[in-house]
Amino acid sequence: MDISKPTIVVSRCLGFDKCRYNGDMIPDRFVKKLGNYVNYITVCPEVDIGLSIPRETIRLVSENDEIKLFQPSTNRELTNEMSAFTDEFLSSLPQVHGFILKGRSPSCGTKDVKIYLGREKAVGSIKGSGLFGKAVVERFPAAAVEEEGRLTNFKIREHFLSKLFMFFKLSEIEKSNSLAELVKFQSDNKYLLMAYNQKEQKLLGRIVANKDGKNFDTIVKEYKEHLVLAFARAPRYTSIINALQHIFGYFSEELSQSEKNFFLETLEGYRANKVPLSVLIHMLKGYAIEYNQPYILQQTILSPYPEELVDLSDSGKE
Ligand code: SF4
Repeated sequence: MDISKPTIVVSRCLGFDKCRYNGDMIPDRFVKKLGNYVNYITVCPEVDIGLSIPRETIRLVSENDEIKLFQPSTNRELTNEMSAFTDEFLSSLPQVHGFILKGRSPSCGTKDVKIYLGREKAVGSIKGSGLFGKAVVERFPAAAVEEEGRLTNFKIREHFLSKLFMFFKLSEIEKSNSLAELVKFQSDNKYLLMAYNQKEQKLLGRIVANKDGKNFDTIVKEYKEHLVLAFARAPRYTSIINALQHIFGYFSEELSQSEKNFFLETLEGYRANKVPLSVLIHMLKGYAIEYNQPYILQQTILSPYPEELVDLSDSGKE
């Protein structure tokens, strides 16, 4: 385990083992690429509770207001085994910063998993979470949790990576026991936080200002709770534009009218979904270098995660 990298729990069938019900494995380009930047811990809840490879399919069934895991061909109920395994496995983990789980699985899926309204297929179904996936979402609010299929969407992937590296860095600061480090973290993340949630960004600033003289453990606990709220969802593009405009304010005195117009036109292009965010980020980075603004250059909004992971070519949609 390399402690200089975030740790992610990943569904084992995503390129690590042929453990699917039919003996297949699903290689995933993003999971593979991300492997250079993270530690992986693999899990296959179905095999880890003792099911074989290959195996008869299992499904979620809603019965008496309870969600049960059921194997129709054997009439076997596996809810207790899965719950016990999930509890034990999640409790035994070292500090983890993210999860990449296989979508639509009655075990690993976190959303849109089919839940049958009875043991017979014909009775209809609703959507919900797999048993393992549900427990992960509930127990790890500060972790970046996504399904592999959703990560092909560029915006979802960007949010996942931003959250992953943000909370990884915070975990390093927790270990450092240094309020000065936390203050710097808040300062470096100012515009990224503004893009995510301006209300929480201000509140986080007040927490690190520590007017009441609280101890570090109390401050960092409070800070983390509010950081979770700030990262509850991907930023809206209007909030991103607001943060970029604030950064642009640092250079507006220096730029000619035509340079300003060009930036503002590019910003409008982003608003109209015709220009990717990366173009604006590159422009602002260029200005920060040209006009020597170290405070802007250290802002994580310019590079919230390793740049090598910005890869549009395997993204289904922006
Ligand atoms: S989806 Fe989860 S339970 Fe199913 S094969 Fe993959 S890792 Fe195993």
